[in-house]
Amino acid sequence: MTRFDAIVVGGGPAGSTAARELAQAGARVAVIDRAVFPRDKVCAGWITPAVVRALDLDLVEYGRTNTLQVFHGFDTAVFGGRLRRNDFGRPVSYGIRRSEFDHYLLARSRATLIVGEAVVDVARDAGGWIVSGRYRAPILIGAGGHFCPVARSVVRHDRVEPVVVAQEVEYRPDGAEAAASLIAPARPTLIFWPDLMGYGWCVQKGPYLNVGVGRITARAFPAAVAEFRREIERRGLLPGGAPPAFKGHAYLVGRLSPRPTGRDGVLLVGDAAGLALAPSGEGILAAVESAQLAAVAVLGSPTAARASTAYANAIEVRFGRRGDAGWTGHLPAPLLELGGRLLLGSRLLTRRVLLEQAFLHEGRPPLETRATAAGGSFPSGR
Ligand SMILES: Cc1cc2nc3c(=O)[nH]c(=O)nc-3n(C[C@H](O)[C@H](O)[C@H](O)COP(=O)(O)OP(=O)(O)OC[C@H]3O[C@@H](n4cnc5c(N)ncnc54)[C@H](O)[C@@H]3O)c2cc1C
Repeated sequence: MTRFDAIVVGGGPAGSTAARELAQAGARVAVIDRAVFPRDKVCAGWITPAVVRALDLDLVEYGRTNTLQVFHGFDTAVFGGRLRRNDFGRPVSYGIRRSEFDHYLLARSRATLIVGEAVVDVARDAGGWIVSGRYRAPILIGAGGHFCPVARSVVRHDRVEPVVVAQEVEYRPDGAEAAASLIAPARPTLIFWPDLMGYGWCVQKGPYLNVGVGRITARAFPAAVAEFRREIERRGLLPGGAPPAFKGHAYLVGRLSPRPTGRDGVLLVGDAAGLALAPSGEGILAAVESAQLAAVAVLGSPTAARASTAYANAIEVRFGRRGDAGWTGHLPAPLLELGGRLLLGSRLLTRRVLLEQAFLHEGRPPLETRATAAGGSFPSGR
């Protein structure tokens, strides 16, 4: 049996961040992932400045060897409505490729990497958590994404989990196709359903195009994809339309998710806890911040069980009450649609309310507590 202070299952942004923060405080940390990195992850690859800040990402250094597209704004519309341009004249977001981004973050975590090994078995005894019958630790971080094996085997509950479904295709168009595309590299195009329960996107990242759809699944998802394809054709956004093979999966949105965040030394982070932000569906920021909160809880708690409780409280403070959609969740559909049309029909309202607040978090303070800044250390013998 190999012993660690903490085992992290999943090496996406949540797992690599938790591992890095704990390793920096001197803990022996293992990250176990079924994939060998670099690996693909279905994702549009949009990150906000808050992600860059939270990760202390040096964009110059990152961009030297990886795809990095700077976005200065967004072109937005409601389905069938006029496209409105909002150019902020400064970087407001970035486009990355997940195969590169996740690999970069995992490599710098300095954790012991156990890759190409799927976790199927998680057990507990008096000495802590045992993963795959071979690895033992008092702290187990579930960072395996929406289908995280730790979430499935340890944190059971019987409440319905409303999900967002999202699918995309990322490809490298040939020269003629790229030249005829109407997508501005510095401004992703976003087309919203008027109820603001989802949108389709076309994003250029260097030589790559990413086209996709995300929607809270009140409406049948294949119909939503077909509707977005028709919209791309009607507007002539991409010559020949979007390629056929969209891929993706469901995931949970923090405000709607009733999933508990852990127990007894288990802490679920990122998609495993279901923390993505609405209405953008941005999951990377929540993955990074939850991982940082998890590290703080582990380093600041006298026992493994107390770490899970401290973490649950910290998540509620940062992301709001679980399973509570807020007042917009109680509005009737026609009123939501009317509100959405009014918002998206105005360039100024789109900019102030949808983009600056909901998408770019311009009023949201950064996380104040970081594990390393808090001077935490990993107490042994728990
Ligand atoms: C189509 C689509 C587009 C999206 N676009 C965006 C976007 O543009 N911006 C954004 O912020 N968010 C986006 N998201 C959401 C975002 O991808 C996720 O929220 C984010 O990846 C969560 O990170 P994570 O580290 O929690 O999980 P993941 O990134 O899913 O990482 C989980 C890791 O766990 C590993 N794993 C899973 N099961 C096992 C197992 N049994 N054993 C071992 N390892 C395992 C996986 O191999 C993977 O490496 C999108 C999602 C979809 C579906």
